[in-house]
Amino acid sequence: MKKNLLYPWLRDYYSEIIYQFQKKKNYTAYIFCSLNGLGITSLILELIKWIFCINKQQIYSCSICNNCILVKKNIHPDLYILQNKMKQIYIGIDCIRSLIDKISQTPHKGTSKIIWFPNSKKLNDFSSNALLKILEEPPKNTYFFLQCNNKNELLPTIYSRCQIWDIHPPSEKISISWLIKNLQNNQVLKKQSIKSALRICNYTPINALYLLNNNIWENRNIFYNILVSSFKKDIMNLLSILDNNNILFYLDWIYLILLDVIKLHLKIDLKFFYNLDQISVIYKISNIIFIDKIILMIKKILFCKKILIKIDTINHKLIIINLLLSLDKIYKS
Ligand SMILES: [Zn+2]
Repeated sequence: MKKNLLYPWLRDYYSEIIYQFQKKKNYTAYIFCSLNGLGITSLILELIKWIFCINKQQIYSCSICNNCILVKKNIHPDLYILQNKMKQIYIGIDCIRSLIDKISQTPHKGTSKIIWFPNSKKLNDFSSNALLKILEEPPKNTYFFLQCNNKNELLPTIYSRCQIWDIHPPSEKISISWLIKNLQNNQVLKKQSIKSALRICNYTPINALYLLNNNIWENRNIFYNILVSSFKKDIMNLLSILDNNNILFYLDWIYLILLDVIKLHLKIDLKFFYNLDQISVIYKISNIIFIDKIILMIKKILFCKKILIKIDTINHKLIIINLLLSLDKIYKS
């Protein structure tokens, strides 16, 4: 692996973990806790490549040996990736039982075996306890990588046996310089616009890049103009733009701009706003809606978002109509 292949904010984590292996002071099991959109999967893949690589170049893998290529293609016979299968909500105990069989055999292509859980939240009580048993007496040269958003998604008895890495979003400065380098088709966006996308995406650069390269970002000004005019005339006018696959994005956008309006009402410095590129829209909304109503509206929006995320099969249009009627009632009260 050439150093610059890994996201800049993950390079120090990579080096620190590889140094542990080089000094033989490594752990058997590692947990990576982070928001989505920081590229943790790529960090784990690079660690796995290094462990399996037969032509290591100090802390880097060669990227071209057979083992490196098999890892890159996700088909290395000593790498076991445990995910919930299609239509299964959880990783069942049967998966862990078959894993125990596999890891008790000798490795196919070297000396180590690696078990990777890309979404540890999918372990249920039974499979968690079965995994715990393996971690209590792990087979020799077998390593575990577990990914999660928060360590509390796992049993305390599991995470107490692992080294935990809390990976936070990089600084705004690092993220912005990475975003400027990686924007598609040499897009030239104002720094305030890039900064706003980053803040809207919880400071996760990969999600911000996806958003900035998406058509909906180009239409963001139109979206906010419709939002302001709907607040002025009829909130139900929002139905036509909300009723589509981007509904969760749009609900977030409304929620975050309303938070900025609250900040404006509270006279908080503009530099702390999410939507730094929409200050005039924030002023317009603040002139139309008072802070007490905004707080109620935000509660309704978050509730609606929760329902849409939790229940796949629900009729989106009905939920949006219900939300808009609630917002209208608050607005006119
Ligand atoms: Zn290699």
